[in-house]
Amino acid sequence: MFETLSDRLTSVFTSLRGKGRLSEEDIDATAREIRLALLEADVALPVVRAFIAQVKERARGAEVSKALNPAQQVIKIVNEELVEILGGETREIRFAKKPPTVIMLAGLQGSGKTTLAGKLGRWLAGERNTPLLVAADLQRPNAVTQLQVVGERAGVPVFAPEPGNGVGDPVEVARTSIEQAERNNHNVVVIDTAGRLGVDSEMMQQAADIRDAVSPDEILFVVDAMIGQDAVNTAQAFLDGVGYDAVALTKLDGDARGGAALSIRHVTGRPIMFASTGEKLEDFDLFHPDRMASRILD
Ligand code: GDP
Repeated sequence: MFETLSDRLTSVFTSLRGKGRLSEEDIDATAREIRLALLEADVALPVVRAFIAQVKERARGAEVSKALNPAQQVIKIVNEELVEILGGETREIRFAKKPPTVIMLAGLQGSGKTTLAGKLGRWLAGERNTPLLVAADLQRPNAVTQLQVVGERAGVPVFAPEPGNGVGDPVEVARTSIEQAERNNHNVVVIDTAGRLGVDSEMMQQAADIRDAVSPDEILFVVDAMIGQDAVNTAQAFLDGVGYDAVALTKLDGDARGGAALSIRHVTGRPIMFASTGEKLEDFDLFHPDRMASRILD
């Protein structure tokens, strides 16, 4: 995860070692190197610019300190700015005052939505919730069965349309699932919605219709971190088309660069809430900006 950026930053810091005090030229040269490292990691340009401006300003203003040499000071600044760009605090789920809390998942096909529904269900159950997973992706053949399989492995019940009733109406499935949750005391409902391979208006409209029918407490935009800059573009399209409260980043395990993770918060203004780091159900957790920054700088 993020090996390229880690390596590049490490070599930037190494080149500062042994310096007594940072000159203006040192700061400029360091900023240039960090800029290149971020661009190589596929971080969006406006994010790179904002990041570098902050690092430069803080490095110039840094007091001469007995405790930290210049290299350590730069590492500290970069670390703090990484935490900031990744969202600062961990964003927890905002539960509804009156259950069930409705969480809707939106994103492209293949982003890992269905897998994430299972992971989220398992994670919620582990936090003493009684989740219900809802199969409202009726577009993709097998999506319903796939959610049922994932639900079974996660030990979480799945609400799905009755077989044999034609394709079915995802809005109706979502609406009915809330009634089912109320009847059976599920305190959280996780709705899996349809995605396409690319952004299209019909898919956006369907997600927006489900949103309007069930008024989710949280809409999570699920996105594959491995698609880099495309993740940022798709994130923007979903923000305009459906809107969402937070992001779930998937496939971080396969992401050697880190551009999506480092750009998405700044570009969309929405926090990353969950990180998915593998195909297994337990490869999943709340996203912790401070831990991620430490990993990058390790
Ligand atoms: P959906 O079309 O959005 O519902 O996507 P799926 O949940 O079917 O996931 C698509 C593929 O990505 C599947 O092969 C999953 O096993 C895989 N996948 C999902 N999440 C992760 C992850 O965090 N890491 C890795 N390596 N693979 C993942």
